[in-house]
Amino acid sequence: MGMNVHQTFRSEIVDRIKAAGGRWKLPGGELVLPEVFGFCRGVTGAIALLDRALNKESAAGTRFFLLGQIIHNPWVNEYFRGRGVVMLDGPSIADLDSHLSPGDCGVIPAFGVTLDIETRLKAIGCKILDTTCGDVRRLWAWARHAVQEGFGVLIFGRAMHDETVVTKSRLEAVGGRYLVVGDLEEAKRFCDLVAGGDDSVSPRERFGRHASNADSMAPLLRLAQVSQTTMLYDETMEVRRLVNEAFKSRFGKNCTARLAFQPTVCKATQQRQSAALELCRSRCDLIVVVGGFGSSNTTHLHELARQRGPAWFIEDAGGIVSAELIRAYDPETKQSCEFSGWLPDRRPLTVGVLAGASSPENVIGEVLHRLADLLSK
Ligand code: SF4
Repeated sequence: MGMNVHQTFRSEIVDRIKAAGGRWKLPGGELVLPEVFGFCRGVTGAIALLDRALNKESAAGTRFFLLGQIIHNPWVNEYFRGRGVVMLDGPSIADLDSHLSPGDCGVIPAFGVTLDIETRLKAIGCKILDTTCGDVRRLWAWARHAVQEGFGVLIFGRAMHDETVVTKSRLEAVGGRYLVVGDLEEAKRFCDLVAGGDDSVSPRERFGRHASNADSMAPLLRLAQVSQTTMLYDETMEVRRLVNEAFKSRFGKNCTARLAFQPTVCKATQQRQSAALELCRSRCDLIVVVGGFGSSNTTHLHELARQRGPAWFIEDAGGIVSAELIRAYDPETKQSCEFSGWLPDRRPLTVGVLAGASSPENVIGEVLHRLADLLSK
């Protein structure tokens, strides 16, 4: 990583706490960090690639266009905007040709782009900087292979999430049929259809056109299951169990030839989830989760944490307005909301801090300082 960008996203306090075994003792309690948190290899790689290209090419006047967000964190995107990178949104990406010319550089974000966009980028003849994470590519390759072997694909993920939108397009391009289920409830609905045996049901109608391109159940009765890389690992395994049960009840013991499974939740996500679980199980009075509200893997860390106790998901230190008030993500409305009485009065207090794969350490560090202030009063 270039000197600039490395310094920008580093935090001295995070380094110090890491060196002290993940704990920061304070007069009014303790701040605790999990064993693994923050930037994953894919994110570090994407940022480093873009940083290097900017250092090399900007002086030559090359304009850089990001096809979406480089990663789902407002601070990182803002940083690159500050260095002159133009961030294209959905409509501008659809109208790619009127934005980019051959002398420009199109930057493919960590979750990749649809095949259509990739083809159009190539046709423009501009430079292409591809920061797609290797784990996302592996998912495409496995799912594509499954399609070629005659399987339909069940994607456990969010149908409109950048990564899954791209996966769907890559499957569509090789003639694949897919269904996206976003949670266990939806997975059960699909399993009921399998077990029910009425194959004329249209998944596209039942689950919506963003979730499926199958007009009957037939293509999904030989089924390969993948997950968006940032889903909860335990839920991925639960979907697998549900699917196995449904196929067994429909086709009997010989159903295994109809099923294929690949746990494509990436290693970085798995490590962050198990470290987060371990932290939540240790004695914490509350958890603060730091990251972009649009970040799937951070949202899941919040989900894990709030199943076990009070947990607040904030984008940065500014979210902690006072000891009384916090501006945090509301899972009900999926928006930023103000909550009062978030910090208990009693001392000592142990506060666990979690951060997703797209959360920069400098932002985590500012949150730690803010919490330390409150625990030192
Ligand atoms: S979270 Fe996983 S898939 Fe996503 S960029 Fe990081 S390593 Fe790659």
